[in-house]
Formats: sequence, structure tokens, C-alpha cells
Amino acid sequence: MIKVNHLKKSFGKNVVLKDLNEEVSQGEVVVVIGPSGSGKSTFLRCLNLLEEPTGGEIVFEGTTLTGLKEKEMNQLRQKMGMVFQQFNLFPHKTAKENLTIAPVKSKGVNQMEADNKAVKLLDQVGLGDKADAYPASLSGGQQQRVAIARALAMDPDVMLFDEPTSALDPEMVGEVLKVMKDLAKSGITMIVVTHEMGFAREVADRVLFMDDGYIVEQGTPENIFTQPAHERTQDFLAKVL
Ligand code: ADP
Ligand code: MG
Repeated sequence: MIKVNHLKKSFGKNVVLKDLNEEVSQGEVVVVIGPSGSGKSTFLRCLNLLEEPTGGEIVFEGTTLTGLKEKEMNQLRQKMGMVFQQFNLFPHKTAKENLTIAPVKSKGVNQMEADNKAVKLLDQVGLGDKADAYPASLSGGQQQRVAIARALAMDPDVMLFDEPTSALDPEMVGEVLKVMKDLAKSGITMIVVTHEMGFAREVADRVLFMDDGYIVEQGTPENIFTQPAHERTQDFLAKVL
């Protein structure tokens, strides 16, 4: 589904992604871990066309993601749902409206169909009773669940998560991870940057450890957590586990 060949990304003289090579298959759940500043967000942002790579290529569902026209980029972006640390809901729209704007405006879905689907998705993330609530009246955990439902409302082929629980109060982390675990079981392809090692162990098909602009090593959660091969992985895990 996704193929990354020799991906490089610099900001000025700062070389942030040095040479990433990776393949993600349909239905896989890939968790990316690594220290702050190692390039995890930049990697996701390149996949989602929010950043333009400096070198190398990304192929998504057979289409090379470089040199695309704006219209083609927008079509491809619709196939990738992204959930950020900050939920970024539209503050003056209800939960349900947050879910229907993009499908109606950019995919031409009719309003009634979009509304019905929004109600179903809100139900799926445990917020069936909050369809008419405004973001400010929701807790952080509830807002993040709306943000996940909003991404799903576009019927993406892959969901990208960038530290979705890092901005939450501790008591709200579990409810968001629960929604993500259910999603993983549903078979959708997911790439998740997180510091939640329990989630990685339980849900990941594969764990990638990034450091200093490289994928230093990768393997099953069992491999990475119990017998990391590289000293940098061992040091990182010693700090976070
Ligand atoms: P991580 O998500 O692993 O913490 P990031 O991908 O956010 O790492 O950042 C990696 C490096 O890239 C950092 O040194 C950061 O300062 C730099 N960086 C990220 N985005 C930008 C940007 N838009 N402009 C300049 N530097 C950036
Ligand atoms: Mg980051």
C-alpha cells in the first residue's frame, strides 16, 4: 500500500530524514517510536503530503507522491486520515458538523447521507449522545475521539496518528487508545506515532524505532521490546519502559 524509497527531508541545513526505506501492507498496524526530534512527525507529514520530501520517493497505492498537481494531491490526501496531538476541531461546529463538512464539501456526499454516517461514526467512538455538542463542551478525550471519527468520515484507506494521546490528561488516554484498538481490529491500515508502549505491544504488527533521521531497527513488538538489537533502541527503551 505504501512504499518509501530513500526518503530524505531537510529544513535548510537541518537534515531531518536521512534515508528512510519502508513498506506498509494493507491492513498492517505499524507503530513508530523514538526520541523527540528523531523525525517521526516529519515522516508522517511527508506521507500525508503536508511536507514535500527533499529526496527519494513515496508510492501510495501505486501513485508516486512527488511532482503531483494540487488537485491530485488533494484527492490522495482524502485517502489518508490524519489525527494530531492537538485535535483541531472546528470550534463553531457541533461534533456532527465537524464530521460532515469535508465529505459534503470535498467529496460531494449529500448532506443526509453524511449526517447518517456521522451519527454512526460518533456511536462507534462512544459519543452517540454528543452529536450536537460543541467542542468546548467536550473533554479532551472526547474531542480526540471526535477527531478520529472525523478522519474516518472520509473513508480513508490509511489512518495516520501523530501522538494522539500526548496532549491528554492521563485519565483520558485509555478511552482514546480503546477506540484506536477497536479500529486496528477492524482491519484498517494504521501508522501510529506514540509513546504508549503498552499500546504498541498489544496492537502493533510491527514496531519501527526511529533515531536521528533513520529507522534504526524494526520488528515485531516481541522482538523490539524484549531483544532490541541496537544500543540506541536499548537506551531509549530503558528510559521509557
Ligand atoms: P519528532 O516528531 O520525532 O519529535 P520532528 O519530525 O517533529 O521529530 O522534528 C525533527 C526535526 O525537524 C527537529 O529538529 C525539528 O526542529 C525539525 N523540524 C520539524 N519541522 C520543521 C519545520 N517545519 N521547519 C524547520 N524545522 C523543522
Ligand atoms: Mg513529533
